[in-house]
Amino acid sequence: MKNIIFIAPPAAGKGTQSNILKEKYDYAHISTGDMLREAINSGSKLGIDVKNIIDKGELVSDEIIIKLVAEKLASLKGKPFILDGFPRTLNQAIALEKIIDDNYVTIYLDLSEEEAISRITGRLTCSCGKSYNINIDSLKPKIVGKCDACGSNLIKRDDDNVDAFKIRFKTFLDNTEALLDYYNSKNKLVKIDVNREVSDIFNDISGVVND
Ligand SMILES: [Zn+2]
Repeated sequence: MKNIIFIAPPAAGKGTQSNILKEKYDYAHISTGDMLREAINSGSKLGIDVKNIIDKGELVSDEIIIKLVAEKLASLKGKPFILDGFPRTLNQAIALEKIIDDNYVTIYLDLSEEEAISRITGRLTCSCGKSYNINIDSLKPKIVGKCDACGSNLIKRDDDNVDAFKIRFKTFLDNTEALLDYYNSKNKLVKIDVNREVSDIFNDISGVVND
């Protein structure tokens, strides 16, 4: 299996695809947020440094993040991995290149802003934990406004504010452009159109990582 660097705009379904990859192919899912939390909880020297930096409201440096990623990757003992949320910048990508071998692919889940907005405004959740989307056929509840699993009324999340989302989406694209150019120039970039069924998207990803 190829290792994966996952890059995706908000609402592209990166979490869903990561979960299927973990289940089907036993990928280790490495997210920067989780990694920082783990480091802090471990109480290691590096973890204490990270905690001090975050407590001060400062950004954890590339150098520290690279160290954590390197430690994490070494602990996997050859298990395939998904990097999620890292690298975020060109400098991080160049540093990463020095600690991983060539057996990886960068997968970009391609989603237009219009489609992303349709997805976030369609999200509904249930108090039992199930979630739905009235704008995605495969995720619609069977009965309008009711949970398939427990029959409760579905709730619209109030953090799905469109204006704030547009800013997040644009910021993501601006920050990601250099990264995509970098991986494209190395022939390591695969773009996957995610305006489709979850299973079709997964089939495409499978083809890429099994290649
Ligand atoms: Zn429910």
